[in-house]
Amino acid sequence: KVRVRFAPSPTGGLHLGGVRTVLYNYLFARQHGGDFVLRIEDTDQTRFVPGAEEYIINCLKWCGLNPDEGPHVGGEYGPYRQSERKAMYRKYAEHLVQTGHAYYAFDRPEELETMRERFKTPENPSPQYDHTVRSSMRNSCSLTLEETATLLEDGVPYVIRIRMPENETVTFTDMIRGEVSFHTGLVDDKVLLKADGMPTYHLAVVVDDYLMKITHAFRGEEWLPSAPVHVLLWKYLGWEKEMPQWAHLPLILKPDGNGKLSKRDGDRLGFPVFAMNWNDPKTNEQTKGFRELGFLPEAFDNLLAMLGWNDGTAQEIFTLEELIQKFSMDRVHKGGAKFDYEKAKWFNHEWIRKLPVEHYRAAVKGLLEEKGLVITDEAYLDKVMTLVKDRCTLLTDFYEQSKFLFETPAQLDLDAVKPKWNDDKKAFFLAASDELRAAGSWKAADLEASFKALATQKNIKPGDVLMPLRVMLVGGKFGPGVFDIAELIGKEETVKRISNMLQ
Ligand code: GLU
Repeated sequence: KVRVRFAPSPTGGLHLGGVRTVLYNYLFARQHGGDFVLRIEDTDQTRFVPGAEEYIINCLKWCGLNPDEGPHVGGEYGPYRQSERKAMYRKYAEHLVQTGHAYYAFDRPEELETMRERFKTPENPSPQYDHTVRSSMRNSCSLTLEETATLLEDGVPYVIRIRMPENETVTFTDMIRGEVSFHTGLVDDKVLLKADGMPTYHLAVVVDDYLMKITHAFRGEEWLPSAPVHVLLWKYLGWEKEMPQWAHLPLILKPDGNGKLSKRDGDRLGFPVFAMNWNDPKTNEQTKGFRELGFLPEAFDNLLAMLGWNDGTAQEIFTLEELIQKFSMDRVHKGGAKFDYEKAKWFNHEWIRKLPVEHYRAAVKGLLEEKGLVITDEAYLDKVMTLVKDRCTLLTDFYEQSKFLFETPAQLDLDAVKPKWNDDKKAFFLAASDELRAAGSWKAADLEASFKALATQKNIKPGDVLMPLRVMLVGGKFGPGVFDIAELIGKEETVKRISNMLQ
């Protein structure tokens, strides 16, 4: 049975790359009737951010990408937080020492520092702990068995490091990149078990993927250089046949294709899924996310899917169901995917138009209420939303695009309207208000017909009075059809707004 996992470290917000990993995992699991597991990789306690786990779970929920197993829902293979699995890892590390694939290293921080100074060259300014320095360090490869035993008995702190072979080639097949090979001589002797008994990522990821019966492991391309360590661990632990199939997902790049996205590229680009409820230590402020910017989860999932994948046609708008049907790892590009915020907004606009307003009414209602509008009549809100949704790229646009449908706009200067406001126009509007007051039908088409007929009768070009009418009703030179607005706000309010402006 297909089993995939998303394995975030609870160290901060969830950004585009992370959620796209979630999405691809989710699509793959659903497509194959498999399980999607959430595993919290919290072995690095120094980077732990309280609240980050809950935040991640809430983000997944908002995106509609809920895991089948995880710390919040349980499952057969728990616990799902690595810190709670601490006791499980040591025996594997010890086993690797026994079989000669790992060793105890007792080096103190200052000894590591000395090594770095000693082996430093202009070509290699920060030497790694590897086969070239191994024999000159204080570890169970360079010490005798007795010396090692004494140090262990004396309780001298140690880490366990993998013993990377000097001259081997490690090859594995990546679902996106095909065959990938690494020369082991270039990889350092990574720490597997830390002095506090916690595993590092390298050991924990292999042990947990094995124990949790993960069949496919999808993660960001930044983990590709670690893959040879993981492949060797699978082999050394005797689990080679169970090793998951890997896919390293392409980086997400700036729109010009140069370099990885980061916060510094302008606040929007580095935005997380939604606002973090803690202060970002880097900027020391609360960050807005895609949710607060006014994105719909459907649009967000859709645009993420397209960051690195397409179905081979020109289709860009996909529902989650369609993505589950069509997604395939072999159509994920190797090259970095460019994130373009303008394009992201385009996706959102398409989705706002596509979805029935009931679907996101609550979100819009919340946003309008935050701005101080009191919404009591949801049927009216639906009509408003239907009228203005084409004009909204983000949910947050609904306020500007619709506030005049809830409130009388503040007085606006009709002199600013071209062609110039004059007494003829004023006279026309006085007559128009009388006519509107007496109107039998309050349908947009009828209102338009009688308004235009009146203009012709008064020898005024309809175009010259339409913009003033708009300004009277909207408070600005924008908005949907002016007679649609009149129909929606009703007779009394329309007449009131016109007379307000004629004072
Ligand atoms: N904990 C790693 C991260 O935060 C997970 C990488 C993986 O999926 O193996 O990215």
